[in-house]
Amino acid sequence: MNALHKKTDVILIGGGIMSATLGTMLKELSPNLEIKLFEKLSKPAEESSNEWNNAGTGHSALCELNYTKEEADGSINIDKAIQINEQFQLSKQFWTYLVNKGSLTDPQSFIRPVPHMSFVYGDKNVQFLKNRCDALS
Ligand SMILES: Cc1cc2nc3c(=O)[nH]c(=O)nc-3n(C[C@H](O)[C@H](O)[C@H](O)COP(=O)(O)OP(=O)(O)OC[C@H]3O[C@@H](n4cnc5c(N)ncnc54)[C@H](O)[C@@H]3O)c2cc1C
Repeated sequence: MNALHKKTDVILIGGGIMSATLGTMLKELSPNLEIKLFEKLSKPAEESSNEWNNAGTGHSALCELNYTKEEADGSINIDKAIQINEQFQLSKQFWTYLVNKGSLTDPQSFIRPVPHMSFVYGDKNVQFLKNRCDALS
């Protein structure tokens, strides 16, 4: 068998955060998997996953107003916010696991807490923010 016919179990297209995360999880679950990752650019994470492009903020849904929809009766639906928050907690648990295991040696190189706030103006929006705060509290 030549190199071209070497067995590959998983092929990941693109070297952004999704391939990196999926590849890492698969290797954790099944260390013997043969994984190949193809990236068309010269370096990984240069597109959406670059923090200066789109993926700079971890969403916990505490301040991202679009995750809490105002219903017709004025109540605030927080289902989506809870779902997003739980996903973010899972991400942090996964990174903590990798740090404890020694796979990630310098977490500060990719995750840092920063002050995060919501800003609104106008009476209607201020009331929305108060209702949102009450609902999430
Ligand atoms: C406007 C905007 C704002 C966002 N804000 C946030 C935010 O605040 N916080 C947050 O967490 N997320 C945010 N996101 C989402 C986040 O950026 C993406 O969910 C995440 O980066 C997607 O990761 P990815 O690996 O799928 O994509 P990418 O990081 O884009 O990786 C895809 C890779 O595939 C490569 N590729 C493409 N085609 C091929 C090919 N044919 N062969 C080989 N390689 C290929 C590309 O070069 C690239 O490197 C935002 C997204 C957008 C659009």
